[in-house]
Amino acid sequence: MAERRVTLKSNAQIERMALAGRLVAEVLDRVGREIRPGVTTLELDALAEEMIRSAGATPSFVGVQGPAGPYRHTLCVSIDEEVVHGIPGRRRIAEGQIVSIDAGAVVDGWHGDAARTWTVGHVAPQVTRLVAVTRDAMYAGIAAAQPGNHLDDISAAIEDVALAHGYGVVRQFVGHGIGTAMHEEPQVMNFRTGQRGRRIEPGLCLAIEPMFTLRSHEVRVRRDGWTVETRDGSLAAHWENTIAVTAEGPRILTEHPVAVAQKLSA
Ligand code: MG
Repeated sequence: MAERRVTLKSNAQIERMALAGRLVAEVLDRVGREIRPGVTTLELDALAEEMIRSAGATPSFVGVQGPAGPYRHTLCVSIDEEVVHGIPGRRRIAEGQIVSIDAGAVVDGWHGDAARTWTVGHVAPQVTRLVAVTRDAMYAGIAAAQPGNHLDDISAAIEDVALAHGYGVVRQFVGHGIGTAMHEEPQVMNFRTGQRGRRIEPGLCLAIEPMFTLRSHEVRVRRDGWTVETRDGSLAAHWENTIAVTAEGPRILTEHPVAVAQKLSA
């Protein structure tokens, strides 16, 4: 990632980001309802692309450069031991899998970026727990994004949730600033760095995105140049929201407001 200055967004700019965020939330809600055994990951991708383009927006991930050329899809769909950046294709979703879907959209130049993980049909209790705990860690990180705190408070809050359950915390991929670019400074680690990091202040917009695994945190990129998988084959979950820090605290831009208030107070 190129080194860039951290930019703070005005309230008017945050409102524009909220439009992108709302679209991403709607896309993930809709795609989530289509996840079932037999559906292909490319069908989910086509649905997401249609929703984003018919809203007059652009998928954020299309054109992102990788080692083997630009990314061509709207979604990343990562199943089971795949952590992030799974490429949509003819693969059919099956009973018992866990499916992580990451979506991004640009509305009038402003980005929203979010991910959720779903279980398909019956899975073992430990798998349900991995998914739920990773989600909880995301909310713990978001709750720590208060003016006056530092970035490492977010990282520590996320890491503590993983440590309490003995999960691996993926270290090679992390959260990030977001705005007129999908990836801006600063990076937001999901583990303590030993440094307090930047002070959190109103206008800071972040994508907070823990990736937890059932065992080792070690990952590698497949030969397709994109798909990140756990080295030991253990299952991985990924949750992400784009937030804006306001004087009153964190505001989640990639969920519906009612759900957000319930989760942050839980
Ligand atoms: Mg992201």
